[in-house]
Amino acid sequence: MTADYGYQDPRPARITFDEWDDLFQRIPDELIEKFHYFPPNNEPWSKYLFPPQTFAIYGARHLRRLKFDNSLAALRLWGFINNESERLFRARQMGKKVIAVMGDLGPLAVIVNSFPDCVAFYPDCWWWTPFAMESKVLLDAAAQLGIGEATCFSRAALGAFAKHSYFPDPDLIICATGASCDDYSGVESLVAKMFGKVIWVETPLRICGETAQLTQLLTEEYRRVITALEQLTGTKMTETLLLNGIERSNRVRQLTHRLRSLAYENCTLPALETMMIEFGCLHYYSDITEWTAILEHLLATAEYRLKGNLPILKPDSLRLAWLTPPADPLLLPYVEELGARVVATEYVINQALTIIDTDADDPLGAIARSMLAGSLNGTSRERADLLIAQAEMRKAEGVIVSAILGGSHCALESKLIATHIKQRLKIPLLEFDVAPPKGEIDRQTITRIEAFMELVRSKRCQKS
Ligand code: SF4
Repeated sequence: MTADYGYQDPRPARITFDEWDDLFQRIPDELIEKFHYFPPNNEPWSKYLFPPQTFAIYGARHLRRLKFDNSLAALRLWGFINNESERLFRARQMGKKVIAVMGDLGPLAVIVNSFPDCVAFYPDCWWWTPFAMESKVLLDAAAQLGIGEATCFSRAALGAFAKHSYFPDPDLIICATGASCDDYSGVESLVAKMFGKVIWVETPLRICGETAQLTQLLTEEYRRVITALEQLTGTKMTETLLLNGIERSNRVRQLTHRLRSLAYENCTLPALETMMIEFGCLHYYSDITEWTAILEHLLATAEYRLKGNLPILKPDSLRLAWLTPPADPLLLPYVEELGARVVATEYVINQALTIIDTDADDPLGAIARSMLAGSLNGTSRERADLLIAQAEMRKAEGVIVSAILGGSHCALESKLIATHIKQRLKIPLLEFDVAPPKGEIDRQTITRIEAFMELVRSKRCQKS
């Protein structure tokens, strides 16, 4: 299928930063010219297919230590993700409205992207930047504004707002708060103070038997958001526009579901790329049209590998379930180095993965119900059950809970979830806090992961 682009991928493998540089030399120039963000725009400045070296030079130093899928589709994914800051500044230059949505990780972006020429992005996602850049600049900037180490790495978003150079100052900021995350509400409050005005959206606690009332509450909150966006853009929101927006988001979510299953069941993609695919459901890396095309390319690659029996990871690798996204991207490739593969995940973004009901009379109510299926607005047990269902289905042999240092939900929730999962699955479980960024996995975490992998391996041997 990759032949559609006139390029044949090499046999699937995970390759180093330097190996990708060599491979990149073989990609025809016409192909590099072909991919542009914000299509159908094809201005020379909107190319994004570059080797990881380009992004490392501009600060993404962590790329030098990662392992990558060697397909053209994966290179396209990495180029697109690393190009996002530039893309947001270009969006502003092109006359698009740039809207920061914060705190709910998914549903608000669906509403914003239903407006023509609006680009939604979650500054929350800048929590990876200190790891990607191996730099504490954003964390230090947040500390100067009053949010220090007692808060999770998401405080980097506050530092990014303060620096004014990671994304343009938004035309509008919409903050979800309530039954979600105390840490992030603190970040949002300081952003509100910095910018003078934000729109607050209440996120209710999910209560069994009260779906209708909660849907109504959220729908009314979303109506206020729509009014603000109408005033900003001069565009009247219609049911057709909203339904089209939902359908575009659902397309991304459907592609993501298929890719997750091809990765986690059929070993066609590595865990790190699959995590980046899952997180693409939040705000599509600020360009839903091109992101959808990239997902289609990845899907063609994964289907081709499945059909040709060309897995990228050994199917008999140890099967792991993973709870909470690892802030340090090194961790997923590391467990693969040790002979494991990820088969189930709960990355606190269930609200962005849920397919939104398009048959509903009221599209806003359908978006509200997708929010009510969220990872963090219910009980810890419900969140654990999201992982348990997948882990059982794919016969996980071990579970890793990578908690977030300072994360308010992690300090207690990880323990509660770990206990519940252990009782239900009766397989080894490792729980650890991801250490602050420093360019390598800390020694203690390495020792613990290696010991855990030995345990999982010995359990498999005992069974056979
Ligand atoms: S504590 Fe958890 S939910 Fe809150 S911002 Fe950090 S990672 Fe996100």
